[in-house]
Amino acid sequence: SLGIGIVGLPNVGKSTLFNAITRAGALAANYPFATIEPNVGRVTVPDERLAALSRIFTKGERVPPIIPTFVEFVDIAGLVKGASQGEGLGNQFLANIREVDAIAHVVRCFEDGNVIHVAGRVDPLDDIETINTELILADMAGLEKRLQGLTKKAKGGDKDAREQADLAEAILKVLGEGKPARAGTYEGRIPKDFGLITIKPVIYVANVGEDELQQDNEYVQQVRAYAAAEGAQVVKISAQIEGELAEMPEDEAREFLSELGVQESGLDQLVKVGYETLGLITFITSGEKEVRAWTIRRGEKAPEAAGEIHSDLERGFIRAEVIEWDKMVEAGGWAAAKSKGWVRTEGKEYVMKDGDIMNVLHSS
Ligand code: GDP
Repeated sequence: SLGIGIVGLPNVGKSTLFNAITRAGALAANYPFATIEPNVGRVTVPDERLAALSRIFTKGERVPPIIPTFVEFVDIAGLVKGASQGEGLGNQFLANIREVDAIAHVVRCFEDGNVIHVAGRVDPLDDIETINTELILADMAGLEKRLQGLTKKAKGGDKDAREQADLAEAILKVLGEGKPARAGTYEGRIPKDFGLITIKPVIYVANVGEDELQQDNEYVQQVRAYAAAEGAQVVKISAQIEGELAEMPEDEAREFLSELGVQESGLDQLVKVGYETLGLITFITSGEKEVRAWTIRRGEKAPEAAGEIHSDLERGFIRAEVIEWDKMVEAGGWAAAKSKGWVRTEGKEYVMKDGDIMNVLHSS
């Protein structure tokens, strides 16, 4: 699955944020899946295009339901300083973090004398380094083990093993300089079974006090500078406020946000940035029955996208009718869009674009 793992030192606001995520998910309408694991939360991807489409496909009293797409967040507890020494990072921790496709690294940027900081003071850059060091050490330990096996095989004349061993050594060199694996450039594709954590993209989540959302405080500025040097994104949130927002009806939440002087909730921002970071785009199926968003990876072709809806549609894919969502809104429906010549016929090699509406023509 395409999830984002939430990591960070203890007491930085991870649970507060994760609780907001699960509550937001539980409240979301048209929730397409019922059972999920306790450490997994789903947040719908805010998408105003769907409401616009639902309006034009409304027939009298019948408003087509909107089914949004979502991003999954995984609460990855159990990372503390020194975890990679002694005890080692817990197996559960490693298993969880290796499964996700991106990491949301929560950093404490709020002062609160009542909330103990594990290092005794608020220092976001030191916190970031602490976590990154643990993850780098975990990657080194895993990769060194892997390299032993590969070297043995390479000596036996296995060419693939030789290439992988060279790659592992190149990555180990980067890690050995105290840098995450993603900081390096390598020849060849890194096999998934290297199990690298620090190759995954990171979003820094700067958790600030509730009255600090408008202006960046000094800590947030530090995090921004650090992230910029890494080419990573930063989302500023107040985990506490997100918790309160998650409990409110939509209109009330909007009013609360405008009182705070912000346009969008931190969680919505995090979802959008997460979606981008994961390299995901949305295509839409749309008509009088329902308006539904689907998630695919950027670069996927029409048959793969069809397979997201149903595997039969990928197998039997003949061609697809495609139109940009805003063209559909302008036309006001399929028939009108077709008579204007705005609906294109695309074949198997068509690369999907964000906001495409697709109708799959298939054999059964
Ligand atoms: P975790 O250990 O990272 O999961 O941290 P928690 O979510 O349990 O938060 C630790 C403490 O910090 C709790 O008492 C939270 O209420 C408090 N906390 C979390 N976010 C904020 C915040 O934005 N402002 C303030 N003042 N306290 C917060």
